[in-house]
Amino acid sequence: MPLGNISSVTSRALIEQLRPVVSDDTRVTVNQGLLLKFIKPEHLPYVFAVLDEHNLAAAGFDSIADITACPGTDTCNLAISSSTGIAAALEDVIANEFPDLVYNNDIKIKISGCMNSCGQHSMAQIGFHGSSMKAAGKVLPALQVLLGGGVVGDGEGRVADKVIKVPSRRGPDVLRSLLHDYEANGEKGELFNAYFDRKGERYFYDLLKPLADLGAVKDDDFVDWGQAQTFATAIGVGECAGVVIDLIATLLFEAEEKHELALEAFGNSQWADGIYHTYSSFVQAAKALLLDENINCNTQHGIINDFEKHFVETGKISIGNFKTLVLQINQHEPTESFAKQYFAQAQAFYKQVQQYRQAKTEATAGATV
Ligand code: SF4
Repeated sequence: MPLGNISSVTSRALIEQLRPVVSDDTRVTVNQGLLLKFIKPEHLPYVFAVLDEHNLAAAGFDSIADITACPGTDTCNLAISSSTGIAAALEDVIANEFPDLVYNNDIKIKISGCMNSCGQHSMAQIGFHGSSMKAAGKVLPALQVLLGGGVVGDGEGRVADKVIKVPSRRGPDVLRSLLHDYEANGEKGELFNAYFDRKGERYFYDLLKPLADLGAVKDDDFVDWGQAQTFATAIGVGECAGVVIDLIATLLFEAEEKHELALEAFGNSQWADGIYHTYSSFVQAAKALLLDENINCNTQHGIINDFEKHFVETGKISIGNFKTLVLQINQHEPTESFAKQYFAQAQAFYKQVQQYRQAKTEATAGATV
């Protein structure tokens, strides 16, 4: 079933036509298909004819051409960008440019509209999850590219590595680059994940880096897959329309939530929990400003160091030594007095972050006007 979509009309027709030859125990599979069980060999031609009649007999089941995608912005309020739209675009690339791969079931492509993973993006050789980026003062839909995941058998799996984030419109070019490179440089019989392991994540980062360049974004890059062209000028910071969210504002909101969680913990005398929520608020707020400057944030350690470098050392935020401030958590017992002092410092820091973000947003808006 392409992208797991089946109408109730088709479902009822299938039940009607197939009930005499398949078991009642039909299952929905993890790759968005239907498993029809206990078909006698002599009935297979009939089953195929029924499926064909309903356009459900395309070649390439469970292959690279059979992409799994969550609903994304079609129907999910949490989605950041379209997953079904890019899935259709990638299926076109496979069908038109790599038809010999239609029967390749070593490589799976899985796509989620956000990092929540309903589309299982981290369990695929090639995975994508929806995200956003900023260019020219506006938000554009983006894809986080992940490589090297999948099922390895015997109940074991491997989680894909995050490699790079690119504008969503460049998703097809990402796929082309990966497959051409694999065709050109993969060894005979080498499976994709073995190729990924041999070359290493950095190799693929370098391979795809030109596609992440925001220096040459076009108007189209601000319009997500499957959206009407007329939305092009309406998509931007604060323009919801179920298409993209303001990631920075969301991260700041989450930092505020950490403050609330900390206060709740303090109210129950859970000082260690409250201190940890406070620590998380520091990191979350710092991450928001770093992402706003297009600085990648992969680890908490990296966020703390990068914030020191890009905001404190440059004088954009005056908070003393940020690293020492945040990592006080490692120097103190989780006492009430430390919890309250640390929380007050986190609030002061957050206030500065908010003021900085607001000033920047107003300056950008002024420049646009
Ligand atoms: S992965 Fe995200 S966008 Fe997709 S269905 Fe789950 S929550 Fe929604």
